[in-house]
Amino acid sequence: KEKLTKSREGLFGKLKNFFSGRSVIDDEMYEDLEELLIQSDIGFDMTLKIVENLEKEVKTRGIKEAEKVYDVLKDVLERFLIRENNKIELKEDRLNIILVVGVNGVGKTTTIGKMISKFKSEGKKVIIGAADTFRAAAIEQLEEWAIRSEVDIVKHSQGADPGAVVFDTLKAAKSRNMDVAIIDTAGRLHNKKNLMDELSKINKIIKKEIGENEPYETLLVIDGTTGQNGLTQARVFNEVTKLTGFVITKLDGTAKGGIIFAISEELKKPVKFIGVGEGIEDLREFDADEFINAIFE
Ligand code: GDP
Repeated sequence: KEKLTKSREGLFGKLKNFFSGRSVIDDEMYEDLEELLIQSDIGFDMTLKIVENLEKEVKTRGIKEAEKVYDVLKDVLERFLIRENNKIELKEDRLNIILVVGVNGVGKTTTIGKMISKFKSEGKKVIIGAADTFRAAAIEQLEEWAIRSEVDIVKHSQGADPGAVVFDTLKAAKSRNMDVAIIDTAGRLHNKKNLMDELSKINKIIKKEIGENEPYETLLVIDGTTGQNGLTQARVFNEVTKLTGFVITKLDGTAKGGIIFAISEELKKPVKFIGVGEGIEDLREFDADEFINAIFE
């Protein structure tokens, strides 16, 4: 909770003052609120949606004091968060595959490192597939996390076929009786066709190994400090592959957690984890209610 201080003091701290400093509910109040929400990276469309809902709700409830609108806003925002399938439920009787996608620099490797540690501490046998073969540094960095948590890693040399890495990872996972296989992928967004081809190839290999209709996770990692850029990334990845959820990183360093609302509402998929620091422990399961309570406290 304390890690989200910036989100709280930023947007939501301002919101409290915003409402307590007003006496009347009028168009100007809603316009000013729109401005404030846009600043917090909630995004333009999302802001309009929120304010529209808020106005309706304030009328329905017959609220007359501006100060009380703060609580209504909390209820309205709450509704935009997706609560279905928001947890990674590891199955006991089979290999659980987690494909991790996202552009460079968003915190993908760090997130995988944190996930390794989390699953290991839950007593799971974890294997890593270094299928971001584009950058040598990506493979090395991932290996460091694997060594740190003492888990197996499958890697090929830089430039190798990512599909082959995935294939070998799943083979090794099966023969070594692993519980979880986490697969890192390259996220070169500048070439949408390449990205799509690469991910679709990886998906085919996974399906061939585990069965066409067997579920697995595809998590998109987004840097929470990049605002509308993050939303754009979410749109593109959602188009090129079937995402099951999001990880929003660096929420410790931003006053702009608003992206969570925009992504949930637009893509209708849950945020499964949030990153709240660079340390191995700094990964939290995303709990919508806790998040709302933390920022509106
Ligand atoms: P990748 O290129 O997507 O694999 O990104 P990295 O995992 O290498 O992370 C890029 C930078 O972001 C590193 O300096 C990380 O320590 C930092 N980072 C990752 N996640 C978080 C987070 O949740 N909070 C903060 N403050 N920094 C993070």
